[in-house]
Amino acid sequence: MDIKTPPSSQAIPTIERVRHELKRRALTITETERLSPGMLRLHLTGEDLADFSSLAPDDHIKIFIPNPNGDPFMRDYTPRRFDTAARSLVIDFAVHEAGPATLWALAAKVGDTLTIGGPRGSAVVKGAIAHWLLIGDEAALPAVGRRIEETGPGVSVTSVIAVDSSADRQVFESASEHSEIWVQRPLSSGDSPKALIAALEKIELQPQTFVWIAAEARVAKALRAYVTEKRGVQPGWFKASGYWQKGEEGAHISID
Ligand SMILES: Cc1cc2nc3c(=O)[nH]c(=O)nc-3n(C[C@H](O)[C@H](O)[C@H](O)COP(=O)(O)OP(=O)(O)OC[C@H]3O[C@@H](n4cnc5c(N)ncnc54)[C@H](O)[C@@H]3O)c2cc1C
Repeated sequence: MDIKTPPSSQAIPTIERVRHELKRRALTITETERLSPGMLRLHLTGEDLADFSSLAPDDHIKIFIPNPNGDPFMRDYTPRRFDTAARSLVIDFAVHEAGPATLWALAAKVGDTLTIGGPRGSAVVKGAIAHWLLIGDEAALPAVGRRIEETGPGVSVTSVIAVDSSADRQVFESASEHSEIWVQRPLSSGDSPKALIAALEKIELQPQTFVWIAAEARVAKALRAYVTEKRGVQPGWFKASGYWQKGEEGAHISID
């Protein structure tokens, strides 16, 4: 079977980079919610959110976690949902081998404070995209969920997401035609692309599909190689990022 995606006759999508004023914001937790065994949701508020802006689902903010021994730890998180009028922001934390951000989120209580910075900018993908293929793991799930929820009618979305257990599946509402594939693999295998690639082998790629990948850095690289070399996805039709790296602290690796 020829599993390569047919070449698209449409122009390559463009990425519009919008800069935002870089600002630190002091926020307070209003609610903590355990979405699933592997995902913790924090609801935050603060007057500083009045001019918060995030134009792309894969934007990131820095969160600053106090460090008793020096400068705060800085980690990247996705603004999962926000409402400037209501001064609210939601951040979802994947629960894993705990670094300072995860430990802080696990211990967080209503009334605790968090300083965030950014987003510094938004990379808005524009063009004749008929279909999104979103591939990722738990750390990517907030950006994937936001993309699914923000995609309108007339565009379809397929999400292929690796999670540790079936209890970690999430339900998304979307005006788009959304189909989901949940790939189960132990979190300890989060640095192996095997399960995700096995799932991708079963799906057909349509023309004008933009492929978005975010996962552990080696996994993201392997997925990018798979979609470009084995499935014929053309330059300009994909974006791949390492959202964390096994054994490294605070890693963020741009792959394309
Ligand atoms: C653009 C961007 C957006 C992101 N958005 C989110 C988000 O919305 N929600 C979210 O949960 N994460 C998100 N991440 C990933 C998050 O920044 C990292 O997981 C971060 O390293 C967690 O910080 P920590 O202090 O808990 O662990 P660190 O101190 O950074 O690392 C401690 C140990 O944990 C391991 N580790 C780190 N992350 C993971 C993981 N996800 N799974 C398994 N092991 C891990 C490391 O390899 C290391 O051995 C995003 C990353 C990027 C680059």
